[in-house]
Amino acid sequence: MSLPCPLCHQPFTIGKDETAFLEKMTFTFGKTVVHPAEPKECPACRLKIRTAHRNERFLYRRKSDLSGKGIVAIFHPEPMRPCTVYAHDEWHSDKWDAITYGRAYDFGRSFFDQFFDLQSAVPKMAVVTVGNENCEFTTGTGYCKNCYLINSSEYCEDCCYGKLFQKCRSCYDCSYIFDSELCSQCFSVYNCYQCRFLSFSKNCNDCQFSLSLLSCKNCFLCSNLERKEYCFRNKQLSKQDYAREIAAYTDSYEKQQEALAELELLQAKSIHRAANILNSEDCTGDYLENSKNCHECFDVSDSQDCTRVTVGVSTKDCFDCSNMYIKPELCFMTLGTIEAYNTAYSLYVFHSQNILYSENCFHSKDLFGCCGLKHKQYCILNTQYTKQEYEELVPRIIEHMKKTPYQLSADGAAMNPSGASGSWGQYFPQHFSPFGYNESVAHEYMPLTKEEATAMGFHWRETKDEIPEAKKIIAARDLPDRTSDVPDDVLNWAITCCVSGRPYKLQKAELNFYRQQSLPIPREHPDVRYDHRMRLKNARTLWQRTCDKCGKKTMSTFAEGRSERIYCEECYSEAAG
Ligand SMILES: [Zn+2]
Ligand SMILES: [Zn+2]
Repeated sequence: MSLPCPLCHQPFTIGKDETAFLEKMTFTFGKTVVHPAEPKECPACRLKIRTAHRNERFLYRRKSDLSGKGIVAIFHPEPMRPCTVYAHDEWHSDKWDAITYGRAYDFGRSFFDQFFDLQSAVPKMAVVTVGNENCEFTTGTGYCKNCYLINSSEYCEDCCYGKLFQKCRSCYDCSYIFDSELCSQCFSVYNCYQCRFLSFSKNCNDCQFSLSLLSCKNCFLCSNLERKEYCFRNKQLSKQDYAREIAAYTDSYEKQQEALAELELLQAKSIHRAANILNSEDCTGDYLENSKNCHECFDVSDSQDCTRVTVGVSTKDCFDCSNMYIKPELCFMTLGTIEAYNTAYSLYVFHSQNILYSENCFHSKDLFGCCGLKHKQYCILNTQYTKQEYEELVPRIIEHMKKTPYQLSADGAAMNPSGASGSWGQYFPQHFSPFGYNESVAHEYMPLTKEEATAMGFHWRETKDEIPEAKKIIAARDLPDRTSDVPDDVLNWAITCCVSGRPYKLQKAELNFYRQQSLPIPREHPDVRYDHRMRLKNARTLWQRTCDKCGKKTMSTFAEGRSERIYCEECYSEAAG
């Protein structure tokens, strides 16, 4: 039976595999056995709602609500909803205890209203970091040194601007970059050295304005090459001729823009993989590795029996989940877990099991509607119960939720789109997120306009840039063409972006990097550069299409009729050379 989604109004169906999964996932309270309810939103809206609760990119200066000290946080000083924020070290200290925020369940109010109040009171961690050195302006980072405005990254040094750097050194303006050094403006590259504007490539040195290269050196404006050196516009040149051809592009912004315009045309006619699925069996999606029986999954590795998981590592038996790390199993409609088991409708649950409707809970079992608890069991709204009390009360709350309507928007508008289950089985409503949709990771992969987002009940953050302290403000287009003509004094200037008009400043290490690498100074705000790179990745939507070479049917994020040549894995490997 097809149902209309209450958010986008598109019809969708609940598949047989989904029904079977919901049957399998069981929460037992004494003699009462409960299964998660069928979702009311379509899968695409479920993904938006879930990931709207995650800001892994925007950082703000504010004060810690515990000590009043100045901190950098993922929470704006004026959050979109009430929320309490503690400095990272204070959050982990024994200066507070989440159990003291406990309250009794009130059958006269909806569960969501009560959870909203608890969520507003219990402190949140300012940023998510571990083991960094001199990386104040980063989040989602671990074991990094001297990095600035990067997120979701580990083991990096001297890297700036972008997301998902792993084991990189001195890389600027990159995203999805692994084991690389001295790269700039690269996207989805592995083991590369001194490359710029290179994407979807592996084991390359000194390659520029290119894509889909494997083990190449000194290639410029090339695509779909393997083990080549000194290629220019996909033509083999001698070392001397190659050097002559590319000399003009050194250090000049104007020539870089020419090369970028040419790169765009090259991208549109190059051969692309229908799907990046490596060493996997019976999988659909994109960017999958070492996985089995995973469907509609994106950025997932070493996983099995998952459906609609985005970003997952060693994930098993999970449906509609995102950012799942280190062996989560049997999870449903959950965001951000490490080693969670049998967990549904939750946010950030680490090393825990049998968790429902909870947030930021660590090393716990059997929790319902809790926030910020560590090493706890049998708690509801942060109140400690005995096993027997817990097993008696939770089923009553679930029955109560079934009778209270699905809650769509912040102004109290409520609706009950699919009848019987009421708000049981609904994820945290959109307006529970402390972030604007445009601050969240949802917007990175599924961008919406302000009008679209607010119509769907999401918050929207109006960005107001503080004018940085600067000797003068200069329009980016008025910078000298060549970095060698830019004076040191540029570090004291605010530059206004040629696309967004937003002001930005250069960091000293950054200027040194551009000079050493003979690269032009970026004319765009770091956020504009970031978004530009993200557009190299297709939306997380799968289309049925045919291989442009052999005609085989395949699933791809490239819809039929796009200008790129889309090959199945076999044809793609044959074509490279
Ligand atoms: Zn929808
Ligand atoms: Zn083919």
